[in-house]
Amino acid sequence: MNPALKHLTELQAVDLSLNQLRERLAAFPRRFAEADARLGAARGELAAAKEALVASQKDRKKYELDVEQWKESARKYRDQSFQVKTNEAFKALQHEIQNAEAEMARAEDRLLERMMAGEEFERRVPAATRALAEAEASVAAERRAIEAEKAAAEKELAAEQAEYDEAARGVPKDLLEDYQKIAARRHGIGLAEVRNESCGQCGVRILPHIVQDLGRADSDKIYYCETCTRILVVADSAGAAASASASPAPAQDAGPRDD
Ligand SMILES: [Zn+2]
Repeated sequence: MNPALKHLTELQAVDLSLNQLRERLAAFPRRFAEADARLGAARGELAAAKEALVASQKDRKKYELDVEQWKESARKYRDQSFQVKTNEAFKALQHEIQNAEAEMARAEDRLLERMMAGEEFERRVPAATRALAEAEASVAAERRAIEAEKAAAEKELAAEQAEYDEAARGVPKDLLEDYQKIAARRHGIGLAEVRNESCGQCGVRILPHIVQDLGRADSDKIYYCETCTRILVVADSAGAAASASASPAPAQDAGPRDD
């Protein structure tokens, strides 16, 4: 097999891992936004609770004023009723007094209702304040955790990018570009291992002379799967290459040496 294919096999493994890492990194802005949205909702609830309380207090003042005004009217009519000369005028004032007292009673009812509803608004503000404090603490902790996770992923990305570059150095430019083009079209997989004389990715049969040539140590040819267009590598050599890079080769003379 062409020696560049060994590097390309390493590169393929790093490439897949890089793609997963990039996907994870791409999800971080959404995760931050989701955490911030919870904080926004808690702030919104507190603002709404405060607004409702202010409106309730305004209504209460207005109803208190109504009660006072009708009380004042009744008092005025009563004072006037002591001064009128005719029975008719007295009757008319009596009617006004009754009317003002009825209005005052209605205004008092409205005021009482408002005061009772107001208690609910008064409870809602501290509850929303507590909920906001809790959200602030939990979102801050969550942001720190996501931040740490993101930093670790970025570090991992840099390390894997370096590994990728290292593996890419062993691959001729044309072949590397070929691989990258195929990988971009084929879900990030530009290589296919030949297994049982078939393409390990799409399953199409590979001609025996290609399989043979790929298996030769001195072969320098590059073959492509005719169906999925991926660059073909031999499974055994690929496996050997992967294990050779993963663990050091056993030393022939393992005994201690004195220099
Ligand atoms: Zn194929």
